[in-house]
Amino acid sequence: MTTPPAPDRTTSGTPTSAAAAGTRLDPWLASYAARTGGMRASEIRALFAVANRPEVVSLAGGMPYLARLPMDQLADIAGRVVAERGLVALQYGSGQGDETLREQILEVMRLQGIEAHPDDVVVTTGSQQALDLVTRVFVDPGDVVVAEAPSYVGALGVFRAYQADVVHVPIDADGLVPAALDETLTELAAAGRRVKLLYTVPNFHNPAGVSLASSRRPQVLEIARRHGVLVVEDDPYGLLGFEGEPRAALRSMDDEGVLYLGSFSKTFAPGYRVGWVVAPHAIREKLVLASESAILSPSNASQLTVSCYLATYDWRSQVKDYREMYRERRDAMVGALADHLPSATWTVPEGGFYTWVRLPEGLDAREMLPRAVTALVAYVPGTAFYFDGRGADHMRLSFCYPTPDRIREGVRRLAGVVTAEREL
Ligand code: PMP
Repeated sequence: MTTPPAPDRTTSGTPTSAAAAGTRLDPWLASYAARTGGMRASEIRALFAVANRPEVVSLAGGMPYLARLPMDQLADIAGRVVAERGLVALQYGSGQGDETLREQILEVMRLQGIEAHPDDVVVTTGSQQALDLVTRVFVDPGDVVVAEAPSYVGALGVFRAYQADVVHVPIDADGLVPAALDETLTELAAAGRRVKLLYTVPNFHNPAGVSLASSRRPQVLEIARRHGVLVVEDDPYGLLGFEGEPRAALRSMDDEGVLYLGSFSKTFAPGYRVGWVVAPHAIREKLVLASESAILSPSNASQLTVSCYLATYDWRSQVKDYREMYRERRDAMVGALADHLPSATWTVPEGGFYTWVRLPEGLDAREMLPRAVTALVAYVPGTAFYFDGRGADHMRLSFCYPTPDRIREGVRRLAGVVTAEREL
């Protein structure tokens, strides 16, 4: 452990070193980079400690329900990877990622109409790392990132860490509103702001639960192109739709203006930490350099395990199984909301993990949270999903992890809290 230097003081007692301006709790306080000021624990992280207690029904986290995975086969696969390919699996690998896996990723993306070449794919440590790399490569402090209102909390954290200014664009039941996007980009250009990225989750949005209508997809792309803004399509839930075929990805309609972010976290398992980004040639080279400087190479052990799973297991039927299970849980969630919380309104997601609930007039989801946890139910207040402090009238409820019975019980408890709150 390094011991911080003793405060360096002049004879007049004035601190002269950065460390001297620290506190007893954190003697290094004055040494942090400016960007560190923008890093804070998400409201979800802080909640996990409490919400993980078994007596609490957590409608807060976005953890996939892994008990449906074929654990015996996965143990075989892990063993085979080490026994048969140990010298590769346990070695450093390529910064861009394993080539066989990149070819298999193309097969996964074809389900959403994406045609690409293995060279276009960069494997990342989850799509969270892809968000970090893209932001690192494009965003200078003060640049604008345009994002849906609300937006995925983990993306907002990355944008904040790189000192971006996030400007929100409204969404409705059909996702991002094209006219509002056009207007916002026009206003930003008139104000002389540099807009670098449009960040969007077009399928089964986290947290809003809505999807971008097929008719709006070309419109959004046209608007972004006209304003010279690169689109970041973050799509971890695209294959988890409850009805019909997956919608065509934005990347399937534009291979120059879209960075597509994919992940095995929700369709397989987050523990391997395998995601990817598809990018045009020049951008891809920068992303690989940025990734090499951050992590040298993504884990070969994880990549080879995921690759072996895709090659030897019927992964499509696993995804189908997840879809059916999550649909049942979505039904339990919206059914329980209708039964117990008719004073609220909510989205009915056609896939993914989340529903977005608007509380009855006058209630504040953040203030109510401690009372909900006392009543043994947890959720994420809407404020976590905005850059500008909005969202106290909303909460995100996840239906991915608890069983249907637990979901119903959680919503019943929540309804009790809301009723008590309205009587306060
Ligand atoms: N994007 C969105 C919209 C997400 O919901 C998540 C996970 N909650 C991620 C990215 C990150 O996922 P991972 O790093 O596990 O691929």
